[in-house]
Amino acid sequence: MSFLNSEEIHSFRNRILSLSGEDASRCTQCGKCSGGCPISPEMDQQPNQVLRMIQINDPRTVLSSSTIWLCASCRTCSVRCPEEIEIAKIMDVLRKLAVQEKFSPAEKQVVKFNEIFLDTVRKRGRVHELELMIRYNLAIRRPFKDAHLGPSMLARGKLSILGQKVKKLSQVGEIFQKSKRFFKP
Ligand code: SF4
Ligand code: SF4
Repeated sequence: MSFLNSEEIHSFRNRILSLSGEDASRCTQCGKCSGGCPISPEMDQQPNQVLRMIQINDPRTVLSSSTIWLCASCRTCSVRCPEEIEIAKIMDVLRKLAVQEKFSPAEKQVVKFNEIFLDTVRKRGRVHELELMIRYNLAIRRPFKDAHLGPSMLARGKLSILGQKVKKLSQVGEIFQKSKRFFKP
């Protein structure tokens, strides 16, 4: 369910422009982004289709697509685009908008992973892999998923029991605050 009103729908393209600095109206639908995207076979909308839907102000299809959650931000599309559109940046903005506008995510596990990942970074300034793994497995109700990897990763020092904290944690807090302000209407 979304709370977008008709005015917000008609100004969707401009909203993406103001949030990302990227103008989707420049897209010529050449398809080079989709042709190079390593995740495109798994996506319900190809990257060029996402650009097209932004052009025609169709936020509902874009924000409820699996594409925005499966995108790995690898920037292959951005590098290939002859119009130099930073598509990866647009995907990032679309993910944030989908959360803000309360769209039911097409890839719920990806959203849950991102939430827990960011929460561990907020607390320590860097990710705590062990906490991330345990909390995510519990969230998806598969508590023993990958558990067999734990002992060998701990033995090799790849996992820390307590995790590490950065020295200037307050600066991390400021980044999170700035990110929140960025998306306030
Ligand atoms: S940034 Fe996302 S959309 Fe672009 S090529 Fe990589 S995975 Fe595909
Ligand atoms: S590569 Fe650029 S111009 Fe071509 S379809 Fe993708 S976004 Fe549009």
